[in-house]
Amino acid sequence: MSSVQTLIVYAFLSVTLALAIRLAGFWLTFNIALAMESVHILIDVVITLFVLVAIWITKASFAKRLSYGLFKLEDLVSFFIALLIVYFAFDFLLSSSKVLASMSFVAAIFELVSLAPLFLAGYTKSLAGSLLRSPSLKADGKHTYTDVYEGMGVGIGLLLFALSRLVAFYYLAILIAFFALLYTAYSIGKDSLLSLLDLPKDKRVGKEIEGIASSVEGVKQVKEVRIRWAGPVIFVEIVVEMEPYLTIDESHPLTEVIEGKIKEKIEGVTSVVVHVEPVERKEFTLLVPVDSASEHSNISKVLGKSKIFAIVRLSRREKEFEEQTKFIENPFRKKEHIGPYFRDLIAKEGVTDVICANAGEGVYGVICSRRLFCWQAASGSLADNVKKFKAKELKKFVFNP
Ligand SMILES: [Zn+2]
Repeated sequence: MSSVQTLIVYAFLSVTLALAIRLAGFWLTFNIALAMESVHILIDVVITLFVLVAIWITKASFAKRLSYGLFKLEDLVSFFIALLIVYFAFDFLLSSSKVLASMSFVAAIFELVSLAPLFLAGYTKSLAGSLLRSPSLKADGKHTYTDVYEGMGVGIGLLLFALSRLVAFYYLAILIAFFALLYTAYSIGKDSLLSLLDLPKDKRVGKEIEGIASSVEGVKQVKEVRIRWAGPVIFVEIVVEMEPYLTIDESHPLTEVIEGKIKEKIEGVTSVVVHVEPVERKEFTLLVPVDSASEHSNISKVLGKSKIFAIVRLSRREKEFEEQTKFIENPFRKKEHIGPYFRDLIAKEGVTDVICANAGEGVYGVICSRRLFCWQAASGSLADNVKKFKAKELKKFVFNP
């Protein structure tokens, strides 16, 4: 057995012992405060069981085949338990006004003795929660600690009543037990309802995830973070923008890094889906080989040896484009090995995209090494092609030597 499993077994043994002590006390005294405290522990045992089953499911191999449903079931059951607790709490409160306090001294001793195993349960749960990196088990441990203080209040109230015979102390003990039940119902009910409705349990987690993802090199912007809490686990969906020239080969390892970092830094996250979108470009400089210096000119059959280049600068403004076109004579048209000349021209003009019908090997090599976008020219004029480019209707150019 691993150390975590040992801790969990200890937690269960000690909480069961605390329950047994309180039940025995109730059986002897029929004290209402003790009855409330017994029911309280019983509920806590069930909730802890849920947490452990959910943790076990997420670690089990068949968990990969499960979607959110099973965890939601846990939330649904928890929600009904919360309603049940409210009912019990009021039922006990009402009966405490009818039944007079009985054997409060003995009841107080049983209540106070039960706190020792309860404290141990809180300690072992918190420790196991830290080892398993489970926020829900840690929260459960914290709850048990709170129950220790609350139990102390009930025990001392009963004890003071037994010693002073002042009935106010008895009702104080009852009220502490009553509000502890209501508080438990509230925290269980709130979390399960939020989870059932897919509402955020903790808004800070979204900001934290955004920060982690945007710190990964290659991520330009985090567009959206969606978080789904289900029982004790968290599912994350995230949309990030990366450079549009990255291939799947290049961007996929980055998504793995994002996934790993989120899982490492945020406890309870079992799955991260990263959706990659290209950064939306706003500025374009097109180089298009044309036959004559007119926007009605045809696209040249050749690229590097074309007579004239059209340089078209586009700036996206909302839905519209600002457009500026100039024509330059090809200065290296008559030269051999034009690759380096072509490269210099591209650098000088700040070209981002090329539209062409064909390309030689040297020129195409430059396009690849500069990571330019290269588009297959469609039939029609320069103006037709620019229009299609803006509408994203051009196909990627495929080099065919
Ligand atoms: Zn409790």
